[in-house]
Amino acid sequence: MRIPRIYINQSIAFNECFTAGSTVAHYVNTVLRMKVGRQVILFNGHGGEYSATIVDSNKKTVSFEIDNFNDVQLESPLSIELACCLIKSDRMDWLLQKATELGVTSFVPLFSECTDIKIPQNRLKKKVDHWQQVVVSACEQSGRTHIPTVASPRGLNAWIEPIKVDKKIILHPYEAQSLDSTSNENIHSVALLVGPEGGLTDEEVALAHRYSFCSISLGPRILRAETAPLAALSIIQHEFGDFSSPQASP
Ligand code: SAH
Repeated sequence: MRIPRIYINQSIAFNECFTAGSTVAHYVNTVLRMKVGRQVILFNGHGGEYSATIVDSNKKTVSFEIDNFNDVQLESPLSIELACCLIKSDRMDWLLQKATELGVTSFVPLFSECTDIKIPQNRLKKKVDHWQQVVVSACEQSGRTHIPTVASPRGLNAWIEPIKVDKKIILHPYEAQSLDSTSNENIHSVALLVGPEGGLTDEEVALAHRYSFCSISLGPRILRAETAPLAALSIIQHEFGDFSSPQASP
């Protein structure tokens, strides 16, 4: 049976007892239906994970004995910032989940010319918290030991100006260049810009080019706004990240 992985937003020390509050207690008791004596894996996003045993549990708290620390290394050597224009709520959740599985380091949701999704100012924080929780759940499931960050949504101009990475990529269906023609560069960090359902305007593409983004095509078919970044992430991890040569690692 698979041992559940649980994210704990606190420091954890090997060989100590650890008590978590009501959110984790609810998850352990009600969602996982786990009893005292059962094994779990805890991680706090600072690298590695802890084998632990449930030693006490009630509605408000759950206590674990920390048995072991495992310095699991499965993060990509490549840092990837994914800037994706806002799409419908359920598709955005799906994209965040899958892109976390594919090893994104940070997410920046963008408002763009053809984005028709509006989030009222007073709901922004709640939305970002929800996205962050989607990302945490994807880390629990996929075995990741670092939690990608989710930034508050912003305009393309505000995001693009300060970016400092080794490679800047804009996904653009109407360009002939494919990614692997640039694969022999020494790349440790990538920014990936993806348009919304309505696409990016010529002005937005021109702006990205002015900031040294290179346009990359994923082939002749138009992919949905949530499919395109996933296809690109797989290729990027293959070329510069998970399967890159040891010299390409930081
Ligand atoms: N109707 C839009 C398509 C938007 S698809 C248009 O004609 O431009 C949403 C986004 O996914 C695009 O802005 C682009 O960033 C990305 N995308 C979709 N298919 C792609 C492809 N074949 N190559 C590169 N990027 C693609």
